Amino acid sequence: MIMKDKKILVLAPHADDGEFGCGGSISRFIESGAVVYYAAFSLAEESVPDGFPKDVLSEELLNATKELGINSDNLLIYRYPVRKLSYHRQEILEDLVQINKTIQPDIVFTPSKHDVHQDHSTVTLEALRAFKFTSILGYELPWNNYFFDSTCFIHLEDRHVIAKLNSLKCYRSQIGRKYSNEEYIKGLALTRGIQVGGKYAESFNLLRWIIS
Ligand SMILES: [Zn+2]
Repeated sequence: MIMKDKKILVLAPHADDGEFGCGGSISRFIESGAVVYYAAFSLAEESVPDGFPKDVLSEELLNATKELGINSDNLLIYRYPVRKLSYHRQEILEDLVQINKTIQPDIVFTPSKHDVHQDHSTVTLEALRAFKFTSILGYELPWNNYFFDSTCFIHLEDRHVIAKLNSLKCYRSQIGRKYSNEEYIKGLALTRGIQVGGKYAESFNLLRWIIS
């Protein structure tokens, strides 16, 4: 697939979802000349651990996306309250419609349709409304998925997985979570890679694929 000058939009309900779900692919796309935009809908100020400033995720997000090669001008931050994105469904839809008008992405990445986190499913449902005419891939966050149909894979090299791990390390306030474990992240990439005859990969749900 020729990615040069393609516009990729990553939708992250919370800062860090995009890095977990498709950090390796982002790194690969940027290396191939694509322009990646990253929209985060919540900085989860309400659930930042004690000892960290409430807006710590804003700086961590900036560093993490920079680690993947995303230009800070392409980082869009919205400050909806964590776990309450569904209360703001219409505003989020309007944000997405606006993003679509200004960026006109070629591919949109959003959490899987099977993701049960209330904020993740809100963003994905609104994305399906806002990006009807765009290819959409649902990324994998296994701790939120009751099941996952791997209908699309993106091969990754060691350097892409390393970039993903380095970007996730920027989230120092979130380090205690079990799924932040490097072995786990690498193991999942290895599992997906072996499924498609490579070394590493990330896996996605094909939500919409348009060939023009
Ligand atoms: Zn999340």
